[in-house]
Parts: sequence; C-alpha cells; structure tokens
Amino acid sequence: MEAEPLKHRPPEAQPPEPWPLEPWPLQAQPPEHRPLEARPPEPWSPKSRLPDADPSVSLPLLSVRDLRIAFDGVEAVRGVSFDVHAREVFALVGESGAGKSLTARALLGMLPKEATVTGTVHPDLSGARGSRIALVPQDALAALSPVHPVGDQLAAAVRSVRRVGRREARALAVAALERVGIADAARRARAHPHEYSGGMRQRAVVAMATVNEPDVLVADEPTTALDDDHRELVLQLLADQRESRGTALVLVTHDMDAVRRHAHRVLVMYAGRAVETGPAQEVLAHPWAPYTKGLLASLPHPDDKPRRRLPTLPGSPPTLGALPPGCPFTSRCPLATDLCRHEEPEPRWADERSVACHHGELPDHHPPGHHAPSHHPPGHHSPAPPAPHHPSPRHPLENP
Ligand code: SF4
Repeated sequence: MEAEPLKHRPPEAQPPEPWPLEPWPLQAQPPEHRPLEARPPEPWSPKSRLPDADPSVSLPLLSVRDLRIAFDGVEAVRGVSFDVHAREVFALVGESGAGKSLTARALLGMLPKEATVTGTVHPDLSGARGSRIALVPQDALAALSPVHPVGDQLAAAVRSVRRVGRREARALAVAALERVGIADAARRARAHPHEYSGGMRQRAVVAMATVNEPDVLVADEPTTALDDDHRELVLQLLADQRESRGTALVLVTHDMDAVRRHAHRVLVMYAGRAVETGPAQEVLAHPWAPYTKGLLASLPHPDDKPRRRLPTLPGSPPTLGALPPGCPFTSRCPLATDLCRHEEPEPRWADERSVACHHGELPDHHPPGHHAPSHHPPGHHSPAPPAPHHPSPRHPLENP
C-alpha cells in the first residue's frame, strides 16, 4: 500500500542567518573631524571623587580602576575600570568566560583564594558583605540551606548585621518576603527551600540580599534559570529596590534584552577586557564595537518571522592562556585588518562612551542625548529605564 502524501507539510525551520558582515559603514580609520580620545579613566584618588562641576552628578558609590584578576599567571580580567553610582543599573555583559562574573565578585571580595588581584576597588566593601553590598546569586537552590526554614535563614542574615532580637529579626524577614511578593509570607517563612517553586526560591534570595538594605546589589545572572514571567518579575523586584532605596545594581548578564529594558549604563566585556562602555540606550542603539554589534544581532525581535533562527556570532572566544597577538576578537570579526592582527586596541573615549577597537567608530559620533535611530526596525520602541537620581554630591558610603 502506498503511503499517502502529507497534506500539510510542517514549515521548515529557516537556516540561521549569517552574522551581518557589513552592518555599518566600514571605516579603515577613525574620522578625522571627531577622533576619539585615548583617555583611560584616571586612577582613583580622593581628588577624583570631588563633586563634578555639575551638582546633579553624584559621586560614585564604587570606583574600579585597572582591575586585573589572574590565575596561575593567566589574566582572566585585564585592566577593567568603571564607576557605579547610586540608583543606577550598571550592566556587565558578554559571553561566558568574558570575565564579567569575576569582575562582579571582586566587588564583593568573593574571588577564589588562588586569584591574584591588582588594581583598586574603592571603597573596599568586602568586609561589609551582607550589609552594604550583597549578592543575588544565579543558583537560588545552592544559595539557600536545605535544612533550615527560609524565614530562619533571613532572620539569621538580619542578626548577623544588626543588633536586634529574634522576634524583630523574624518580623524583618517576613517583611522582606512580602516585599518580593511571597503570598502569605508569615506561613511561607516557616517552609524549607524545597517547598518553594523555582521562582519563589529566586525571590527568596532577592529577599535575602535586600533584607539589610545594602547600598550596592550585585546580581550575577539572576534570571538564567527562570521562565520568562519569573525573569521579568525578578528584574522588576531588583529595579524596585533601586527605586525605593537608592540602591545601585550591578547586573551581570548575557541577556541583552534585560540590559535594554533595565540598565542605565553598560560595559561590554570580551576576553577579560572592556570593549565598549556607555549609556545603555546609546550603546544598544548605536554599538561601536563589532563585538557589541554581533551580540545585538542575536537578540530576538517581535517583528521576526516565525521560526526564524537567530544569527549567532561565529567561532568562540579565545583561550585566555593563549591569546593571539593583536585584538582577541580578530578571528571572529568581519572588519579585522592587519592592524587588528598585530596590535590590541586601547580604549578610546568620546564623552561618556568608550570603545576598544581600531575601526569601531561610526562616521558620525552622536553626542549623549541625541536620539539616534535604533538598530531595530521602524515601529519598535524601547522604553528607556528611569534616569538614575543623583540626590547628593556627598559620597554615600563615606559618612553612614
Ligand atoms: S580591533 Fe578587533 S573588533 Fe575592532 S575591527 Fe579589529 S578585529 Fe574587529
């Protein structure tokens, strides 16, 4: 008997689109009329933290300068510098192995003891972990003890920092669970982590990190294991904390969509270095570095055809112990030239943005505040996150 032909052939998945080879005008040299400055951030000094001429600009809560982290002589983070201000979401992005998690953990003093660290993180808050700076980890199950009720663990976190009695610590723990949307929090506080769903556990670790109202929250891929609904909820909880408490959030993520929706500033890392920094909306609308452009090209978009497979960056990041000479992105970059193969680019700065690429500047630099056309198709509007509020020029961690 002959098999009946299929009447409805399922649509075939389209092959992945190649990464756009010439997504922007290719330039051999930066434009002469507006060259970027070779201006690395100044090393931290008390003077560098004096109030800016503009009183609306606050002093940074944290200043990182020339941070280098090595293991057995191999540098995994290679001279990263940035500031984090109160009430801002500062995103560290890049592929796995780019050095973003190590950079974030250096802020907390949570690096493995074999790590050799040079550079400065000011102020050093590693001794104030849990009170002034706290971690929202990726793996909630590993972060919570399986043998104690969640409420007891939160109460213990409170009593490790504050001189309060058990009853008050317990009340603060329940209030923290309520703030992250745990229904019937007083009862749930008596439950063990395995009695929580995955989303509830992630909310519980947000409650744990925020129960002592730290000045800086470091969230290391906080939504990786969550579904879309819980992912947005957790990001919103972190954003609420920023809004209500003035907390700065250092968001480590490879999720460029989360950066687009929540971050004020972004630092893109590749092979242990910063390849691009700047206001998030500007960087996402007009990436200057080919690497940033490639990351953005792999973002899904609401206007995509069904079942379209997203383009991916070709190749993989280099092994840090065997970095080739020149720019580490050379083997994956459609714009690579001989110069790239022989000389690693230094960061160049223009206004609030920087790029470490020999050919990475757009012909027309758009100054901050200029609303450059988005890389997304017309009709797509990215809501900008609320602007960080800079209430006081006083260093917030200096005189608690
Ligand atoms: S410096 Fe690196 S990123 Fe820039 S064009 Fe050359 S290879 Fe590409």
